[in-house]
Amino acid sequence: MYDLIVLGAGPAGLTAGLYGARAKLNTLVIEKAVEGGQISSTTDVENYPGSLMVSGLELAITIKSQAENFGTEFVMDEVIDVELEGKVKKVICKENVYEAKVIIIATGAHPRKIGCVGEDEFIGRGVSYCATCDAAFYQDLDVYVVGGGDSAVDEALFISKFAKNVYIIHRRDELRASKSLQDRAFKNKKIHFIWNSAIEEIKGDKIVNEISIKNLKTGEITNISKKEPFGIFVFIGYVPATKVFEGKLDMEDGYILTDNNMKTSVEGVFAAGDLRVKEVRQVVTATSDGAIAAVVAEKYIAEQEGTLYEGFKN
Ligand code: NAP
Repeated sequence: MYDLIVLGAGPAGLTAGLYGARAKLNTLVIEKAVEGGQISSTTDVENYPGSLMVSGLELAITIKSQAENFGTEFVMDEVIDVELEGKVKKVICKENVYEAKVIIIATGAHPRKIGCVGEDEFIGRGVSYCATCDAAFYQDLDVYVVGGGDSAVDEALFISKFAKNVYIIHRRDELRASKSLQDRAFKNKKIHFIWNSAIEEIKGDKIVNEISIKNLKTGEITNISKKEPFGIFVFIGYVPATKVFEGKLDMEDGYILTDNNMKTSVEGVFAAGDLRVKEVRQVVTATSDGAIAAVVAEKYIAEQEGTLYEGFKN
């Protein structure tokens, strides 16, 4: 039996693994695909403190090596069920069943995709789901933002600081975003609107420079092709990877509720990273969550086993 099992090897899970093993917890990290989660497909991370520019995958591999140096075990397997109640937590995966005293859930959240032709192919080469990460690459270039909620409009305003023009493509003829954000967007000379529309196809020669947009009312297709590359930023909501935990933990719209110490509604179960109910979802906040969860998990185990140093009790 492990002391700590971390589910997911994105920045939150990797950091939880690193902190767990460094605190001498017998730690296992379970990941179904590649390490890094969402950042594994981010070409350049330029806002992670302490590193000027690093690829997402490089950053993930570095944190993983750090964790391995302290003895964290990694296994590739897919979680299909969990038993969270009681002192021994069970993680039922496709290949094996694993047990631990404490679980940290860090399975992340994925931006909802448009689902059009070319979207997957051009991720990191014109298609982005993060303005904080990628807007600066579109200095004096055009950008198309998909969505009509707070995120789309908020991020369009941010992107307009860099881009030549920002075109918001929305499937209806009115925005869902708050009135104050709408007012700011309507007043911004760089922001334009393409109503009742959806992107049908994304194309390009290595990077995006062509899209076709369908008018959902008339069915008319407009092809846009430019000499210069342009960006497509998609903000149509997020999908947290929490289906397995439904009915087993307190959640809000699919996101896991925690306190400031990453504790969930079940004793000995913590959550870290983008699947938590929180405001800012960035690599740096995910790693912070992971560190907090592992430190508090270590204290929890010591408390359970009666080995917690008196000075740490509060
Ligand atoms: P959201 O409020 O759910 O809005 C999603 C937008 O994407 C909607 O306009 C929706 O269109 C559109 N959409 C959904 N699925 C689509 C699809 N398959 N194809 C095309 N368009 C699609 O999500 P969000 O903007 O990410 O915001 C999430 C939460 O965070 C909200 O509660 C929001 O208030 C909050 N937030 C707040 C701020 C802020 O206060 N500054 C900033 C960001 C986020 P319809 O309108 O037609 O449904």
